[in-house]
Amino acid sequence: MFDSSLKVRIPPSPTGPLHLGTVRTALYNFLLAKKHGGTFVFRLEDTDRERSKSEYVSDIINGFRWLGITWDEGPLRQSEHKARHQMVVKQLIGEGLAYECFCTTEELNEIRQSQRAQNLVEGYDNRHRGLTEEQKKNFREQGRKPVIRFRLPDNKELFWDDLIRGRMTVNTSDLGGDPVIAKDNGDVLYNFAVVVDDNDAGINCVIRGEDHLHNTAKQIALYEGLNWKVPKFGHVSLILTTNREKLSKRKHGDIAGITKYINEGYLPEAIVNYLIGMSWTYPGDDSKEIFTIDEVIPIFSLDNVSKSSAVYDLGKLHWFCKEHFKLTSSEEVLKRAEPFLEKENISLNEYSIEEKLKIISLIKDGLITLSEIPQQVKVFCKIPDLSNLEIKEKECLDDPNAKLILEKLKDLLNESDSLNEEQQVKDLLEKLSSETGIKKGKKLFWPVRVAISGTVHGPDLTSMLSILGLGRVKDRIERVNNFLMNE
Ligand code: GLU
Repeated sequence: MFDSSLKVRIPPSPTGPLHLGTVRTALYNFLLAKKHGGTFVFRLEDTDRERSKSEYVSDIINGFRWLGITWDEGPLRQSEHKARHQMVVKQLIGEGLAYECFCTTEELNEIRQSQRAQNLVEGYDNRHRGLTEEQKKNFREQGRKPVIRFRLPDNKELFWDDLIRGRMTVNTSDLGGDPVIAKDNGDVLYNFAVVVDDNDAGINCVIRGEDHLHNTAKQIALYEGLNWKVPKFGHVSLILTTNREKLSKRKHGDIAGITKYINEGYLPEAIVNYLIGMSWTYPGDDSKEIFTIDEVIPIFSLDNVSKSSAVYDLGKLHWFCKEHFKLTSSEEVLKRAEPFLEKENISLNEYSIEEKLKIISLIKDGLITLSEIPQQVKVFCKIPDLSNLEIKEKECLDDPNAKLILEKLKDLLNESDSLNEEQQVKDLLEKLSSETGIKKGKKLFWPVRVAISGTVHGPDLTSMLSILGLGRVKDRIERVNNFLMNE
């Protein structure tokens, strides 16, 4: 159905931070363009002067870059197309397809109230369609300034074959009356500007959220009025929360925007995978949930995009995160962890690169975010503060066996000449068990863990000790023995 002439777009409004819904729509457009060798256009719909902010522009651009979503044209800025918009407004007025409407807000409210009372569809009743020059002059003399409305065809069935939802039909009488295309200050509105910009950019396929279904009908009327080629349309379902509410920044805070995920060190691959898979199923294997974007490009099709609502579940996303950490090499995780380590003042520079990679491989598979790394690797470069232990850890050292274990361990360490091999650590712990008469398990290992790291949690003990090496382990055990003696 598509070939390399395909031209799609993502036109976010910079009136808020980049929303996950926009990311998912961008992904579907991006995938479609890549699959067919088409063109993906990025446009900022920044005509709302009060609500558009440069910080949101940066947030959107950074977000796309972070996710690896690239575009072939843009970012175009709708605000730069003003002259062209005004020209098309004039053209429509000249052709009798748009007209000045002088209704006040009060009058519009009255119309709605009376429609409500009669159980009619609410909207503008098109009363200023046929104003005479005389009437217009009178309104002007009253100080009224007109908006411009597009004249919808009366009672006409508009339809399109939605690429995701199938045949869609909307009657113009259900569209709330002739839509405003330009405000009384001349600023044009979304439904009009989007048609002009999409047409001028040669967009021939529009994939966007289902919240635009009614707009699509209005836009088709505009395309037809202007005698322009109507693009293909596809509407993806909205993202809901597990409570079946629309995922919104206002109600659901940070989880709806992309910034939280960037700041907390989520892997963009995991977010991309999760968002694509929310409505798209892997062809031929609907149980396959983990994939990379490059893997999806050649097999992507809107036929596999479902129209049922997508549900956002943070717990589910975390599962994807863990799976992607497993797929990412220790080298890559180490590289990406750098800024997070720096922020927490944690440096592994006393270790060789091989040792650093060993540390990362030890913790990597249980990670959800990169920001968990500093806490988890702290043990390798920070000596625990024994005077500030949590209750459980303190109890561990207070246990009468702890002294025995740790003193014996000190002796055994003095007899060892290396701990670098895991086997050497295993032998050491074996000896510790036989010489103290305490079976290998929590009773034996927890005091050692606490002495080394200040916590009973953390990576595998054998690996941890072998990476720390004889010198550091000896030092920490000595410190804990002195500490216990002086207590
Ligand atoms: N600026 C609109 C939005 O962010 C674009 C919608 C569309 O794709 O036409 O919702």
